[in-house]
Amino acid sequence: MSKVLVIGAGGVSSVAVHKMAQLIAAETGPFSEITLASRTVSKCEAIAESVKARTGVAIETAQIDADDVPAMTALIEQVQPALVVNLALPYQDLPIMDACLATSTDYLDTANYEPRDEAKFEYRWQWDYQDRFKDAGIMALLGSGFDPGVTSIFTSWLKKHHFDRIDTVDILDCNGGDHGQHFATNFNPEINIREVTAPARHWENGDWVETPALSHKQEFDFEAVGPKNMYLMYHEEIESLKTHIPEIKRIRFWMTFGDAYLTHLEVLQNVGMTRIDPVMYEGREIIPLQFLKAVLPEPASLGETTKGNTNIGVIATGEKDGVQKTLYVKNICSHEAAFEETGNQGVSYTTGVPAMIGSALILSGNWTGDGVFNMEEFDPDPFMDMLNEHGLPWTLEELDGPLEF
Ligand code: NDP
Repeated sequence: MSKVLVIGAGGVSSVAVHKMAQLIAAETGPFSEITLASRTVSKCEAIAESVKARTGVAIETAQIDADDVPAMTALIEQVQPALVVNLALPYQDLPIMDACLATSTDYLDTANYEPRDEAKFEYRWQWDYQDRFKDAGIMALLGSGFDPGVTSIFTSWLKKHHFDRIDTVDILDCNGGDHGQHFATNFNPEINIREVTAPARHWENGDWVETPALSHKQEFDFEAVGPKNMYLMYHEEIESLKTHIPEIKRIRFWMTFGDAYLTHLEVLQNVGMTRIDPVMYEGREIIPLQFLKAVLPEPASLGETTKGNTNIGVIATGEKDGVQKTLYVKNICSHEAAFEETGNQGVSYTTGVPAMIGSALILSGNWTGDGVFNMEEFDPDPFMDMLNEHGLPWTLEELDGPLEF
């Protein structure tokens, strides 16, 4: 049985479901049927219509509040999937994992759990499910997006084939796309702004180094984009990579932001619109950041106008056969091509394709195990092959030397 239940109906979900349906249409396995469920069922129906028009595959839809564990459990019991693919928001990770435990069903997501009242990205809440998943004989695959996800696979693939020892890892995430809006985010605005405004943290010589948000900037010339400013940030794969590949002495994550984006963000922060604590407004509590999300463009609506490329990769230094080297593995993705194929922009595409690939590897029995896993714990080779086959081809190059910063 290889039926999947996908939760959430945003841009990432739309891409993943289109990609799964392409495999059903091509009869190349391992997916048999898809049920798409989310809070707003009309969004599921819109995705189902597009999938039918583009691939000829019909999918089921359902309404669900995934925070409601008994309702989520009942939905899984009714649909009987082999795998639940969580593409809702990080807040839903734990309730969906609870429902998977209650029904002994495998689980996959693309972003680690975050409590609503604290912008704190840590795996410990989900790693705490290790024994319960193991005892239930089911698996959870955490972070099967691009970053985390492909970046973790790039690192473990470099380790497997090109290094005896990795010393440093720099993850470079560049979105060179222009959506033509004054201010918008390319994935869920609430999650995006919480991430960007959190203090930066990187891993160095066995310890976390914390610096103020957006305080470290470097210019880097990205292929297919051009020179861009990128900023040191915290990102969740740092925590899992330093845990599972402990030899790495330094792991940093960099993301590009344009000046206009940062100016808008600074103003919004200064006036209190990015706050995540409740404020009273006309007799009721509202969370300013959630209100801001309501007035910003839906990320899924940006596809039509977004032009340009994303360029995300890993630069690693280390030793092979006694020789020091620096390798750069990356993917470049065109926003226009992503939209043409799935009706969604590149950031949704670069996340939705790996969500499909992780699901396929679980369902086909390539990646198996009982417990809670991060991407770098599995064999990277089939994942790397599928990236090339399913729209996210990668390249490897040797650099003259390590980054000079
Ligand atoms: P969107 O905000 O576009 O979509 C989220 C969807 O989840 C919406 O359809 C929303 O419903 C639904 N949802 C929210 N709460 C609930 C709930 N309680 N029950 C059921 N459904 C719910 O987000 P994206 O598609 O941009 O992102 C999806 C996920 O992917 C996020 O977790 C994000 O952090 C992650 N991500 C990961 C990346 C990676 O590389 N690893 C990169 C980008 C994103 P409604 O329509 O009603 O609001």
